[in-house]
Amino acid sequence: MDLTRLNKAYDPENFRKTGHELIDLLADYLAEIRDGNNIPANPWIPPTESLDYWKADLENARADSVSGLFRQILDRGVHLHHPRYMGHQISPAAPVAALAGMVNDLMNNGMGVYEMGVSGTAIEHLVIGIFARALGFDERAGGFLTSGGTLANLTALLTARSVKAAAPVWQNGGGPSYALMVSEEAHYCVDRAVRIMGWGEAGIIKIPVNDQFQMRTDQLPAHYEAARAKGLEVIAVVGSACSTSTGAFDDLEAIAGFCQSNHLWFHVDGAHGSALALSEKYRNRVAGLHLADSVVMDFHKMLMTPSVTTALIYKDGMNSFRTFSQQAQYLFDRTEEGEWYNLAKRTFECTKLMMGLKVYSILRTHGMAFFEDCVTRLCDLGQAFAGLILDSDDFDLAVKPECNIVCFRYKPGGAHAGLDALNERIRKQLLQDGTFYIVQTRLKGESWMRCTLSNPFTTPKEIGDLMEKIRLCAREISQIIS
Ligand SMILES: *Cc1c(COP(=O)(O)O)cnc(C)c1O
Repeated sequence: MDLTRLNKAYDPENFRKTGHELIDLLADYLAEIRDGNNIPANPWIPPTESLDYWKADLENARADSVSGLFRQILDRGVHLHHPRYMGHQISPAAPVAALAGMVNDLMNNGMGVYEMGVSGTAIEHLVIGIFARALGFDERAGGFLTSGGTLANLTALLTARSVKAAAPVWQNGGGPSYALMVSEEAHYCVDRAVRIMGWGEAGIIKIPVNDQFQMRTDQLPAHYEAARAKGLEVIAVVGSACSTSTGAFDDLEAIAGFCQSNHLWFHVDGAHGSALALSEKYRNRVAGLHLADSVVMDFHKMLMTPSVTTALIYKDGMNSFRTFSQQAQYLFDRTEEGEWYNLAKRTFECTKLMMGLKVYSILRTHGMAFFEDCVTRLCDLGQAFAGLILDSDDFDLAVKPECNIVCFRYKPGGAHAGLDALNERIRKQLLQDGTFYIVQTRLKGESWMRCTLSNPFTTPKEIGDLMEKIRLCAREISQIIS
């Protein structure tokens, strides 16, 4: 067999050359994007146009070199490092963590078993320990990293079921009579997890929210009793810290108290906001977090880590071994202590890349204070944004922001019909224009614009410019209409 092709693909000198080109390209990109003056935050390209472009690229091998390909990817993508990026809740990756990602990808040490992830496993264990402590847990806590908040929430709820269900569900199957309680503002992945577990629609008991979009914890007892009267076995209450749409934090201490009194599992979906525990200034928003039986935290939302990197931390680390096994406790007690290093016993994934390296590389290079700086800065920006909205007669704030998520709308001349349509049109125009990237959401049946201040290099100037741009869009729209 002719090995020319294989040899060329793996040639170290080719890699060196392309790699250097790529690093130069990425460094120039970071420098260009940082002030971003003449560059859109999100150059909008409609789906079929994008598909046609890449079809043509493949057919014509238009990219003359590998770095030509990467250049096109950069030009045709969303720029999270751009100060006018205020869209979905994803971090502009810390450059050192992106380098860690490259090492990770080349080595491909899938760490399902310890032998395949000697360093990755130890690093993950250290990272989990450090962040568990930072969230307020004691040394009994334990957990692992997994692929995203969605999967982490499902995994935690499977653990909750194994620990709390009266019957051995893992062995015998069944379970349509189980249920959990969660705020109606929770991320949709909780609903999905319930249905995946086979509990059906009745298995998700949605607790209404107050005008701050927080769970009405005073309604927990009544919903709990009603569920039991219907024959449901309630397993858990899920607190949102914070909810995705508005960034509202549930009262975790109240939920913890209710769970304790009723022997329920207390899970916190802190995918976005549990990171606030790292900020001295904003820590009070997650008071009671350490009382949770399990907590999810996405490193890719507020902690500058490439996606997806998610921690699932248990107050009692031993429970993490019970997700995929409901065996009698005595079987664990003897072996567990030594089993922290075989991660696949506890994770959904079998093969899993060493995502801990991405967090660890930041921690080792910039220290824990870096994470605190980011969280504090992003929440400060949320406050600044709200201040600017409140100072403007033609804008309305949905709710006082508690972190870096801000929902607002343009409201010239006070309330009137057609505000939903106007705000939707403005947001669409912003998307097509690309100068700024923001998203939208529906709150209590109304359309609102939504920003997540994800980039610590955004300043109040960009926020003011966004508001000016929105006014301009509104004028253009009214000219088209009239
Ligand atoms: C983002 C988010 C999720 C989903 O996490 P992924 O990492 O995107 O899978 C779940 N819950 C909340 C509250 C979130 O903000």
